[in-house]
Amino acid sequence: DELISQIAAGEVVERPASVVRELVDNALDAGATQVQVKLMAGGVRAVVVEDDGMGIPAEELPLALKRHATSKIRSLHELESVSTMGFRGEALAAIASVSEMAVVSRSEGAAHAHRLDARSGELSPAARARGTSVEVRELFFSTPARRKFLKTDATELAHCLESVRRHALARPDVGFSVWHEGKLVEQWRAATSEQRIKDVLGEDFFTESRTLFAENGPLRCYGRAGLPEAARSRADMQYVYVNGRFVRDKLIAHGIRSAYEDVLHGHRQPSYVLFIEIAPDRVDVNVHPTKIEVRFRDGREMHQRVRYAVQDALAQSRS
Ligand code: ADP
Ligand code: MG
Repeated sequence: DELISQIAAGEVVERPASVVRELVDNALDAGATQVQVKLMAGGVRAVVVEDDGMGIPAEELPLALKRHATSKIRSLHELESVSTMGFRGEALAAIASVSEMAVVSRSEGAAHAHRLDARSGELSPAARARGTSVEVRELFFSTPARRKFLKTDATELAHCLESVRRHALARPDVGFSVWHEGKLVEQWRAATSEQRIKDVLGEDFFTESRTLFAENGPLRCYGRAGLPEAARSRADMQYVYVNGRFVRDKLIAHGIRSAYEDVLHGHRQPSYVLFIEIAPDRVDVNVHPTKIEVRFRDGREMHQRVRYAVQDALAQSRS
């Protein structure tokens, strides 16, 4: 079982940033309004994510760390319309199998918090307000081969920050802060979507981009399309979300790229933030361990809609 968990961990946990992604997903699923991410040594020594969400009742704490234990869906049928970020019950078990993990949580109405040490299974009383802290220390300590693949702390930190950025863009209603070695490195207060884009991607990106909006029945696309002058040499400002989930999708990326066909030359990469909302039964999110890839029921239509939406946004700027 330990081995199976470690193999599953290989698919879900590649580096500290993957831990950040999964733990922040969980915090958001728990209804957090504030999420704090505290890192040591780029997240390799420690990733601690604290939230003010609904917490986990003491009697359910051991279950949360079990493989395939999820409180989020109860049937295969519900998978069709899953609205939470998590649904497989894999992340905590996988992370626990390749790190030293502890979970401290307090649910509404509980007299105090409880701390569960993943390795020993020991449950002890602890102090904190309602919500959950998940502490992940010494990632890959027992799998030196994996640990060797990690880059410098600075690079791992950059990946962790990118992971929080992806969440922060999708959830402007939630406040985020990131600490490294005890120092506050990023803080985004709850804001409007427009303000959040400015806070996370910078005023320059905002000035050099245009509002994008298209609605076709149950399909909605909105966000900001960067003008050609906001294009960059690297594809590092490209954010696509499907029903609130950050995805990397070739089809969508191609649809967007083709909208820039006539205005962007050479190898320059367009910058954009695109939110796609679509009926859950039109898209399958359960095709990749990290859920970063999705499959659309009607790919051709998606490609076109996205292309037109971006074209419209770019055309506005010239009129
Ligand atoms: P999943 O998110 O797919 O359900 P996880 O392994 O990420 O699986 O988490 C397992 C379970 O632990 C969740 O279903 C949830 O019940 C509980 N849990 C994990 N993190 C939190 C949190 N921050 N707040 C409240 N409950 C949590
Ligand atoms: Mg999860």
